[in-house]
Order: sequence, then structure tokens, then C-alpha cells
Amino acid sequence: MIERAEGVWLWDSNGNKYLDGNSSIWTNIHGHCRPEIVEAIASQARQLDHCSYLGLGHSLASELADKLSSFFPDKTLERVFFSDNGSTAVEAALKMSIQARMQTGQEQRRKFVAFANAYHGDTLGAASLGGVNRFFSRFESLGFDTQFIASLSELETVDPTELTAVIIEPLIQGVNEMRPWPKGMLKDLRAWTEKHGVHLILDEVMTGFGRTGSMFACQQEDVIPDFLCLAKGITGGTIPLAATLTTNEVYSAFLGGAENAFYYGHSYTANPIGCAAALASLKIFKDDRVLEGLPAKIEHFRESLATFAQNSSVKEIRQCGLVAGIELQAGLGEKAIIAARKHGLITRNILDTVVLMPPLCITLEEIDFAMAAMEKGVS
Ligand SMILES: *Cc1c(COP(=O)(O)O)cnc(C)c1O
Repeated sequence: MIERAEGVWLWDSNGNKYLDGNSSIWTNIHGHCRPEIVEAIASQARQLDHCSYLGLGHSLASELADKLSSFFPDKTLERVFFSDNGSTAVEAALKMSIQARMQTGQEQRRKFVAFANAYHGDTLGAASLGGVNRFFSRFESLGFDTQFIASLSELETVDPTELTAVIIEPLIQGVNEMRPWPKGMLKDLRAWTEKHGVHLILDEVMTGFGRTGSMFACQQEDVIPDFLCLAKGITGGTIPLAATLTTNEVYSAFLGGAENAFYYGHSYTANPIGCAAALASLKIFKDDRVLEGLPAKIEHFRESLATFAQNSSVKEIRQCGLVAGIELQAGLGEKAIIAARKHGLITRNILDTVVLMPPLCITLEEIDFAMAAMEKGVS
């Protein structure tokens, strides 16, 4: 039982202290209980805790939408749709893509392309674009019409005239044991979707907010999608909130009255406390120059992982920014994470791959601590 947290540390009910090695399931960014975020949440809770966002608005959501759009060039991702979590951020993008086709005379575009072993969330629509069989095979016949491909070359087997969108986790697949894509792949995929008038949906639920070294993963390949799905780290890992960014072109397809509206809303859409936490998190990015501090941490992480790769229990190590998948010899994954707890590290395995994805605020010394705990966990 976890009782308390501060910075990269978690304390259990027996008073034991652990480094949060997977950022509390990939959400935490600036460390736990950062005073600025806690203060923003508390004062927002006193002023306006929640109000419906259906037909109403509030300045926090408007400000947050502006700030998210401002990471991209003018007139690109200028429209923002709020929801609650990563699955709904994806779900909203999928439905918007299809409905926009229906309302612009492109009814034949109803199919999606997704990548083998992808993960896009657990709601049925998002799950039908997921390719991890142990999660999705029971529901295979339900959900959206989806063709799975394993690599870009398989796009040759796709009829683009039936496609509404391609969805991908940019730079690295998370749930697929942390597997990075080849460099340049995202740019090539973007060129293909543009050529064929197909939407590109980027699921940055995991990669967003600095994880891969840039604010968003797509910026590393100068790609701007038609839809960008954000959640997990958006509030610094404190309150559930999500955003789906899209273009004015997509937005325009929904104008013209009730019959064209996008009927998609959740009770807690754009919750003001969540928006306040997200704004506080973005302010910390600026004040602490978080992105500027990442290269040194990523390099130190790379060197520590290279040393650890010498260990005979390690099969392969995959890294992208402050995200690492440490693939151990068969059967060792779960044993290693349980053993590492005794040495002060909490994280999770995906099959035999141990995930190390610490909060961005981790220090070099804390990286050494995590790596030492891993080392002891497999010896
Ligand atoms: C976690 C995750 C999701 C789902 O987000 P939830 O908030 O858990 O619904 C979707 N896509 C990716 C890439 C994720 O890592």
C-alpha cells in the first residue's frame, strides 16, 4: 500500500521508500506533490471545482488550449477537444475523423490502418486499433474496421481510397515492450498520408510532455499530424485530463448546426482543476527549463544502460529519451521487478521487458540509484 509521495519517491505503509521507476504508470513528469501544482489544484478547487463544459466554457480550458496549440506553427493544430484519459483522447480522434469524412462527401473513407502490436487504450473503439493480442483478441470482431501493418513497406497492400486515418505511437511503441521505430519512419508515413489524403493520428499519450527528449515526439521528425492525442503527462501526472488537437479543416466539417455536431462529451470534460494542474505543469516546464535539462540526463541514462547491458541477465536494451525497455532473458521480467523492490525501486515489467521511465525531474544520482537497484534485482 502506497501512502505518500514526494519528488521521484514513493513511501509504503511500512515506511519503506522507493524510487518511482515508471512514473506511476507513465504519468508523472515533475515529481510527486510539486508544490506549484498542489497549490494550483487547491486554489482552483476553492474557486471553481467543476462545471459542465457542454455549452459553457471557462478561461482555464481556453488558456490551456491556446498553450497546447502554441507548441505548433500557426494554423496547424489550432483546435482542441478535451476529454478525460488517453483512451478517450484516441476515441474522440477516431470518431472525429470518420464523422468529418461523412460530412465532406467522403463516406467511402471508413477504414483505419494501425500498426501491429500497437496500444491505443482500452475503450472499444481505441482497443480495436490496438494490436496487442493478449488485450484485444477477445474483442477482435467488434469496433472499427482496421487493417494492421507491421512496417511502412506494407502500406503497398493498403487501398488508400477507403482509408480515413492511420494511427501510430510516434518514435516508440510503449506497451509493445518499448520498441523504437527506425529514424525517419514517421516523416515517411506523414508523406504517404498527405499524398493520399489520409488523416494521420498521433497517439502521444505516452510520448508527450518531454518523455522522448522534446516536448512532443513528432517534433523530432518535424511532423505535424491531423490529430494529436495527449493525456498521461498533461497534468504532470496528478489529475485525469486529456486533449485531442486537430486542424481547422477538420473542425470546419462540424459547423452548420446540430445535425453536423460532434456528439461526444464526458461529464468531466475540461475539468477546471485538471486544467489548472496542466497550466501549472506547463509553467514548470518553462520556469525550470525542463527540456533544456534533459539531454544531460538522457546521456547519463544511456551510459548507465550501456553498462547494465553487460549483465548476463540482459538480452537487449531499447531507449528513447528518458524511456527504456530492458529486455531480460526469458522468464526474468517479473522476478526482477519484485526483487528490485527490496532495493528501493518500483517499476513494472511487460513480459520480460522491465520498463524504466522515471519522472523528468530525476537527478543523475537518482538515475544511478535506480540502475543499482535494477542490477541488484537481477543478480
Ligand atoms: C496509456 C496509453 C493510452 C491509454 O491511456 P489511458 O489514460 O490509460 O486510457 C493510449 N495510448 C498510449 C500510447 C498509451 O500509452
